[in-house]
Amino acid sequence: MHRSKFLVASDEEVQIFVTKCGPIDNNVGFIENAKRHEAVLIDAPFGAFEASKSILLPDTKVIAILFTHGHWDHVGDGHMFKNLGVQTYAHGLDKLLIEHPELVTMAMRLDIDLIPCKIDVEIKDNDTVNINEWLEVFCRWIPGHAAGDLAFYIKSLGCVFTGDTLFKDTIGRFDLPGGDESLLIAGIKEKLLTLPQNTTVIPGHGNFTTILKEKSNPYLH
Ligand SMILES: [Zn+2]
Ligand SMILES: [Zn+2]
Repeated sequence: MHRSKFLVASDEEVQIFVTKCGPIDNNVGFIENAKRHEAVLIDAPFGAFEASKSILLPDTKVIAILFTHGHWDHVGDGHMFKNLGVQTYAHGLDKLLIEHPELVTMAMRLDIDLIPCKIDVEIKDNDTVNINEWLEVFCRWIPGHAAGDLAFYIKSLGCVFTGDTLFKDTIGRFDLPGGDESLLIAGIKEKLLTLPQNTTVIPGHGNFTTILKEKSNPYLH
């Protein structure tokens, strides 16, 4: 299968590919700079390691993973990249879930083997992560689905990865530990709906949408 099928956005230097991985079809972002032979991942669910081999060019190295949050479905392959020396980023409030995933699987009684993945860099609200001078990621903390949910806005390519906060025509569930409906809705309105209208929204699951379309999202009224 040709990788162009997964292309979502590009400029002269950087391309964003998105594919679905794992048992509940997580959207994984592969942000590649072919000239620099480097790539950054948004989330690393089960299957992301294998997918990276077919999506990325053979001489491209994954150098960083930005986790939208610490739920099991977003982190399963993190340790495989970490073993290769990849730099990992997450919000401080979800760091524990990624470094000690057994806490989640035990609490949720999930029969899933998760291997811990160490987090190198804690992201705070409004941080800008600059990866090797070629990728600028504007980070926005939107709690209410998970305590440490982050949206990653790639302004240069007009895309935002929203994790499990904002989906096409719906929002993330807020009944899990760390969930809070009013925080989630307020965060989406304040930090996502204020982005340029034509921004492509890439949620953690399901179809893409745009900020303009989600202004009429029924859960936000
Ligand atoms: Zn989640
Ligand atoms: Zn999820």
